[in-house]
Amino acid sequence: MELCNQCGEHLGKIRTDDIAPYFTIIIVGHLVVPALLILERQYHPEQWIHFAIWPALTLILMFYFLPRVKGALLGLMWHLGLRGDEHH
Ligand SMILES: [Zn+2]
Repeated sequence: MELCNQCGEHLGKIRTDDIAPYFTIIIVGHLVVPALLILERQYHPEQWIHFAIWPALTLILMFYFLPRVKGALLGLMWHLGLRGDEHH
């Protein structure tokens, strides 16, 4: 059970399901895809450079954003009183 380290609230009871990955994909997609298109349009680099940059950058950004997005959504659900579970 995950407890808030500030107030001891049982945050582990709140289930965010797949909303955090959903928003993370929207955020990271809107960063990576325009950057990829700009790089291709401005510099038209070799194909291997694209393969070297974008999958790795996408992974790094996903790992950066996912826990933070999940925390934000969990906080919002807590604020709204949504527990996101089927059992009461
Ligand atoms: Zn707290």
